[in-house]
Amino acid sequence: MRLMATIKTWLTDFRDVLSPRFCATCGEKLNTTEQKICGACLIRLPYLSKKDFLDNEVSRLFWAKIPIERGHSYIYYHKEGLTHELFMKMKYGHRPDLCRWIGLMMARDLIPRHFFEGIEAIVPVPLHWLRLIERGYNQSYHISKGLSEVSGIPVLNSCVKRIRNNETQTHKTATERINNVKDVFQARSCIPAHHILLVDDVTTTGATLYSLAQSILKENRDMVFSVLTVGKAAD
Ligand SMILES: [Zn+2]
Repeated sequence: MRLMATIKTWLTDFRDVLSPRFCATCGEKLNTTEQKICGACLIRLPYLSKKDFLDNEVSRLFWAKIPIERGHSYIYYHKEGLTHELFMKMKYGHRPDLCRWIGLMMARDLIPRHFFEGIEAIVPVPLHWLRLIERGYNQSYHISKGLSEVSGIPVLNSCVKRIRNNETQTHKTATERINNVKDVFQARSCIPAHHILLVDDVTTTGATLYSLAQSILKENRDMVFSVLTVGKAAD
């Protein structure tokens, strides 16, 4: 085992000489033991509390709107600085590998805290097909794949479609956000799960995730939801 670990380190060193890897947030060169984000940035990221998934600022966005079990976002998203860099790379930087890795990291952190208990399927927020062609990948799908690899919970990627290519939610008020995503999703009936985890990269008011849940509820009664995003826009 020790020999294998040594060989793996040599190979990583060799790869880093040929093609250096850089931190997705600060841009510094990664060392052999670091993956995607450097140790210094991982310490500095603004994490949300993991003490209570039932009553927190994410789950409260959905209270009295949809049947919500648990809610969590991993870090706060700020419009500039480290977290802005990270989300730009996840969304527009052709980095599905980064999205998957963040999914793996979140799942490893959340499993011992029982976040996934009772969840039967993961549904990523779908992209409209035009935007999928333009961007090349759906960041929420790759985050979900990472979550699935660790938790063993399947990803249902084709049970909901985005039927309207709505404008971006950036710079919109809370009311405009609700109207902008109203009826943009269409779900299939007979989704084979009762408790679904909805996954997105960032949430601000929860409008997109709410609209996604509504489309699922329209076709499937008795669903309950949990919500997980990598970022929660800071107030
Ligand atoms: Zn860094």
